[in-house]
Amino acid sequence: MQNFFEKLAPSYTFEIFPPKGNASTAGTYAVIDSLVSFNPDLISVTYGAGGSSRDNTVEITSGIQNKYNVCGVAHLTCVGTTRKELRDILERLKANNVRNILALRGDLKDESDLGEFHHASELIAFIKEEYGNDFDVFAACYPEKHPEAPSLEEDLRHLKEKCDLGVKGLISQLFFDNDIFCEWREKARAIGITQPIIAGVMPITSAAQISKVVELCGASVPTRVRRFVDAYGHHQGAVKEAGIAYATEQIIDLLARDVEGIHLYTMNQADTVRRIDAGIRSVLYTKRYAVRSNG
Ligand SMILES: Cc1cc2nc3c(=O)[nH]c(=O)nc-3n(C[C@H](O)[C@H](O)[C@H](O)COP(=O)(O)OP(=O)(O)OC[C@H]3O[C@@H](n4cnc5c(N)ncnc54)[C@H](O)[C@@H]3O)c2cc1C
Repeated sequence: MQNFFEKLAPSYTFEIFPPKGNASTAGTYAVIDSLVSFNPDLISVTYGAGGSSRDNTVEITSGIQNKYNVCGVAHLTCVGTTRKELRDILERLKANNVRNILALRGDLKDESDLGEFHHASELIAFIKEEYGNDFDVFAACYPEKHPEAPSLEEDLRHLKEKCDLGVKGLISQLFFDNDIFCEWREKARAIGITQPIIAGVMPITSAAQISKVVELCGASVPTRVRRFVDAYGHHQGAVKEAGIAYATEQIIDLLARDVEGIHLYTMNQADTVRRIDAGIRSVLYTKRYAVRSNG
């Protein structure tokens, strides 16, 4: 089975979303055509997020895996879903040679949404029980705690429960403040979480985007970011320019601080990825060389 953590650390991974509903997949494949030229270790595909079709997640992840020969990771959520529906999707993924799953709870609209599953840990346990080692399972983590968690410590305890079920690695919620991420990572290590933690970075491309992101996930926005959004917010091109520069510097600093991987939330903007990639490539490969030399 293909496991990206067996490749050189730090890993370099991308997230995309599939087309919504019956929309054509051509545009998404055009994005993937560009993204694969940056040699990511994997490309993950969101599931049901923002109204995207779940069938399209299966189709696009399979395409990444089989047409491009790049490791495809299918996001899978469990709220409001039955075991039978999950089995159906897992069977299709398996038949299409997709063996990597990011197992998630999914967002709740209200408690009645829950159905047969209450937490991502139950989905992870389900996949392990039904499929053994057929899939490598990854889980989400939250450097600023999940918005519903009463405390960071309680959220970390539940994260440890997911890790103890045998997840291969963790992908973090996006954050803009590297100090917050590194302090949280120390706390995670202190309670015995040993899995590689891939740091989630989202380039800011508009003032509206940052308001939405902060509302959804509660990420802290450093003064420096607020300042450039306030100063250039009326001009989208200028905010995007500043956002790309910020994300590039953020990644360079994270690599210097020995993160095990970078996960770029690409928002299907291949040109933004191209700009960031150009800015970080020599640092990424220098770091990979250093990791390899140190054994
Ligand atoms: C990298 C990443 C990718 C994502 N991709 C998608 C996607 O494709 N589609 C989508 O719809 N959403 C996606 N999401 C959003 C995700 O579904 C939400 O953040 C969701 O609210 C929580 O999912 P989880 O898997 O972290 O849940 P969980 O791990 O279940 O945690 C959710 C909350 O429950 C608490 N908790 C966990 N276990 C217990 C327990 N046993 N008892 C009490 N409390 C508990 C946790 O502390 C936390 O507060 C993604 C998030 C991330 C970080």
